[in-house]
Amino acid sequence: MPADLHVHSNLSDGTHTPEELVELAKEAGLTAIALTDHDGVGGIERAQNKGAAIGLEVVAGIEFTTEVPKAEVHILGYFIDFKSPKLLETIKNIQEDRVNRIYRIVEKLKALGVEITPQDVFEISGKAAPGRPHVARALIKKGIVPDFRSAFYKYLDFRAPAYVSHYKLTPGEAVKLIKEIKGIPVFAHPQISACDDLIPDLLADGLKGIEVYYPGYGPGTIAHYKQLAKKYGLLLTGGSDYHGLDSGREVRLGDITLSDGLFKKLKDEHLRGN
Ligand code: AMP
Ligand code: ZN
Ligand code: FE
Ligand code: FE
Repeated sequence: MPADLHVHSNLSDGTHTPEELVELAKEAGLTAIALTDHDGVGGIERAQNKGAAIGLEVVAGIEFTTEVPKAEVHILGYFIDFKSPKLLETIKNIQEDRVNRIYRIVEKLKALGVEITPQDVFEISGKAAPGRPHVARALIKKGIVPDFRSAFYKYLDFRAPAYVSHYKLTPGEAVKLIKEIKGIPVFAHPQISACDDLIPDLLADGLKGIEVYYPGYGPGTIAHYKQLAKKYGLLLTGGSDYHGLDSGREVRLGDITLSDGLFKKLKDEHLRGN
């Protein structure tokens, strides 16, 4: 049975608890999920405990948001040592800046005549690291915009007027950190970043895989990335990037999966001492 290797919990910007995700995966007939919260690992132990109790493998994962001048790039890490002090220190720095950034976004919104408070956003993000999706939900809740799409289009998108950047690693730094903590670094949803030209440098840093199966990727896209994977000797991965059903996305857990054979290749790479 297949594995969904790209899943977010409410410890980042998903809507389900780690335990709920494991239950949903079991119900969907999956054998494994990877919990890949953005810049965070707080849900892994909880998901693994639940997985051990009901018989579902939970791969320790993370999804780093990284940046180069021309694009935002997401780097997935699989089978990471999620207790590594170096990892936890890096995450702490990123998360602190995410909190500060909410104040800066709220200031920009205020200048645009939109009145929400940082508190409105923190009420929604709860214990999670706050991000733009939480701001979007606050804007919807206040009746300022009707839906996610308009929240991003009008205010929050990269080129929209209330966009604020936050402290990030570069893709190369993320790849090296994941290697250092015994994980397998993977280029996430490469079509969104549209910078295949970064791959040779990332290979030198230790990149091992590329996310070829992803929502919305048609046969042409999959063929393109499979061919790149072959050229560079990269492993293939895939997943749904599930964030929950009322998260503003339509994909369900397990909609996109990785076959047993390809999952085994990833695991073998991990067992070889990665
Ligand atoms: P942040 O990490 O706070 O910058 O927020 C990034 C997250 O916002 C992404 O992971 C997506 O879930 C969401 N997002 C980014 N752009 C859009 C968009 N145009 N429409 C809906 N959600 C978006
Ligand atoms: Zn997300
Ligand atoms: Fe992503
Ligand atoms: Fe994701």
